[in-house]
Amino acid sequence: MTFKTLDEADLSGKRVLVRVDFNLPMEDGAVTDDTRIRAAQPTVDDITSRGGKAILIAHMGRPKGKRDEAQSLKQILSAVEAVFGRPVAFADDCIGTSAEKAVAALKDGEVLLLENLRFHAGEEKDDPDFTAQLAKLGDIFVNDAFSVAHRAASSVVGLAKALPAYAGRSMQKELEALSAALTAPQRPVAAVVGGAKVSTKIELLGNLVGKVDTLIIGGGMANTFLAARGADVGKSLCERDHLDTAREIETKAKAAGCAIVLPVDAVVAKEFKANAAHRTVTPDAVGMDEMILDAGPDSVAEISKVLESTKTLVWNGPFGAFELEPFDAATNAVARKAAELTTSGALLSVAGGGDTVAALNHAGAADGFTYISTAGGAFLEWLEGKPLPGVEALKQP
Ligand code: AMP
Repeated sequence: MTFKTLDEADLSGKRVLVRVDFNLPMEDGAVTDDTRIRAAQPTVDDITSRGGKAILIAHMGRPKGKRDEAQSLKQILSAVEAVFGRPVAFADDCIGTSAEKAVAALKDGEVLLLENLRFHAGEEKDDPDFTAQLAKLGDIFVNDAFSVAHRAASSVVGLAKALPAYAGRSMQKELEALSAALTAPQRPVAAVVGGAKVSTKIELLGNLVGKVDTLIIGGGMANTFLAARGADVGKSLCERDHLDTAREIETKAKAAGCAIVLPVDAVVAKEFKANAAHRTVTPDAVGMDEMILDAGPDSVAEISKVLESTKTLVWNGPFGAFELEPFDAATNAVARKAAELTTSGALLSVAGGGDTVAALNHAGAADGFTYISTAGGAFLEWLEGKPLPGVEALKQP
């Protein structure tokens, strides 16, 4: 690893600015999922148990540089206290007098949450003046929010340059998992890429064919690949203006020695709705008025076989319209197979991005994976092979 972890930090008596992801799902003013608070706890506990003052900085929503009480982090304070099991102080601004006073009042081992960073326009612009005002509040910077690592913001990049910077425990775990999955993986490596469209994942597919031994393509985007190979996919979701893109990815894969696996059978229906009448056909036998909504059982068997001889798996996107039963069958079956192989120690599996977490939860397979990233955009940019500004900024010269 080229970044410092908390193991190397002297925390005693230090004011530690910790970037966390507290952009939580809310309903009627209440937090509906506290996963991200729980993710921050090991870092906060580490800092406070070693005599540091944990000063949490975070954003919520998109207030676009203006104060907006509807997006105040004050709303989540009681949820944070409940998860951490201790009182957490709050300052109603992240810079200026109220933040400075709250920091000055903080004792070693205590926790403070500062108001939404995005109430200031400087945050998202990585504005040097805003960064300097934040930096005044701390001696050390810890980034524990991989999910914002693709944003070049003050609290992500600016602070990492202004103060001695360390990866928090959650960031460290994520970077270690991602590195084990693609940077220095055990081979053979396979990737599952599913989901709706090729057009949203061109860069991701292009990057992966250069890195993995087998690329398993599912979901709506597989239809575009099947059509590019000459199949008539009827009414299926298919990006006809991207048939050449699919062909280019196939050519690139061939040159890189990456095998592409497409569905060998498909579950088709005439309507896009749960429990629609359906049948299983080979991809060349889709009716004019039918659409492919899932991969079929022969595809699942073939993919399962690939997984059995795979050591490392990266997964993004579902095999079919998994929200509509029974078109969740292939996603469920392959996800469960991956979880089973992982649990038995045969496979290292990392998944994330978009609907993937929901699909794997739906399959009841998420707990069986080695690592599930909840990072969305940052995870996808990492799959695309792009350097993430927040991770680059943590790297030591
Ligand atoms: P993405 O956000 O690109 O990962 O796409 C996820 C979405 O793709 C889910 O909402 C699925 O319902 C949808 N999807 C997957 N397979 C198909 C398909 N064969 N036809 C239509 N939609 C699909």
